[in-house]
Amino acid sequence: MQHISPLWHDPETHLARRQPDHPILYFSPRVLHQTAARFQTGFPGLVTYAVKANPHPAVLANLVAAGVGAFDVASPGEMAAVRAASPTAVMHYNNPVRSLAEVQAGIAYNVASWSVDELSELEKLVDVPRDCEIAVRFALPVTGAAYDFGSKFGAAPEQAVELLKRVAAEGWTPSLCFHPGTQCEDPSAWGKYIIEASRICKAAGVKIDRLNVGGGFAANRDGVAPDLEQAFYAIADAVEVGFGTELPALICEPGRAMVSEAFTLAARIKGIRKGGEVVFLNDGIYGGLVDIRDMGLPGRVHVVAGDGSHRIAQATPRVVFGPTCDSLDRLPDGLPLAQDAQVDDYVLFPGLGAYSSAMSTQFNGYGLSDVVTVMELTAEASR
Ligand SMILES: *Cc1c(COP(=O)(O)O)cnc(C)c1O
Repeated sequence: MQHISPLWHDPETHLARRQPDHPILYFSPRVLHQTAARFQTGFPGLVTYAVKANPHPAVLANLVAAGVGAFDVASPGEMAAVRAASPTAVMHYNNPVRSLAEVQAGIAYNVASWSVDELSELEKLVDVPRDCEIAVRFALPVTGAAYDFGSKFGAAPEQAVELLKRVAAEGWTPSLCFHPGTQCEDPSAWGKYIIEASRICKAAGVKIDRLNVGGGFAANRDGVAPDLEQAFYAIADAVEVGFGTELPALICEPGRAMVSEAFTLAARIKGIRKGGEVVFLNDGIYGGLVDIRDMGLPGRVHVVAGDGSHRIAQATPRVVFGPTCDSLDRLPDGLPLAQDAQVDDYVLFPGLGAYSSAMSTQFNGYGLSDVVTVMELTAEASR
């Protein structure tokens, strides 16, 4: 008989009934479907999902159900995860550095699109069927993202011109791709790349089939929902300015913005010291809160008592340590928490679907792996 896991109404109900002593990610498929619909309605091209942000089988299955048919994968492990979610999903293999064994795995998985940023990597792709797309990845020094991806991958524009010519000459479908960096709050980050893409095409004398504008769409970090539509509009506008009537088809590959709002993380308060100044949680930067180390404090945090009610006293700044015995296991900026927070209360972090469980380690026997499905992500709305 098939096992059907229980569906809870909201995190507060689950916490009050179960009193879990390990961190939990609460997942709302409804929110994920809404976000997928927003991308599919608003983005003027193909919406793919960057698997690395959250490869949980429930995320992939729900995106497939929501009509997302193509996925940005970086490794054979991610290819297997996508294939398990859908036998027909299209895969774009956009990790530009690959071992020969990984290239063979990509061919076996029927990868439709490959990115390259160096001749040495293009040479490894000799066995890739000529009906595949090869997208040349280029990079610019860019502002606007929370951190920059260009320092690791991406050819300089002059090299991209040469690579694009070579891709076209060898008979693959030529395309271009870039990634403006994660959490891009300024849509002009895409604009500069798109204008540069049109210059690369002109310099190479190659008409590209598609332009992949990467991920980097901003998630809600401070309680204000980001204006995704403004980014979509800026992208469409820049493509028209750059390419005129020879418009390439567009692809985007959101990770963070697709999945972040669909999950709320709950960590439990293990200990309170120094009159409340110092708080120990059962999750931290080696677990599901690693993104806080890199991205800074989230603006929305709630403390929930053992009976599921929210602590409503004013928040005061705390030093916050994670559960391991490593003294680096500390949130760099601390965290303001309700003054009346007690040991065994829970701290809810909304918007923690991206780069949380995906990056959690099991260091010291801790870590984030448990996912509980809920109808609503907070009880507030129904109270
Ligand atoms: C990580 C990654 C993404 C997703 O980036 P987000 O900032 O999470 O949207 C998309 N494309 C590529 C190639 C990536 O490496």
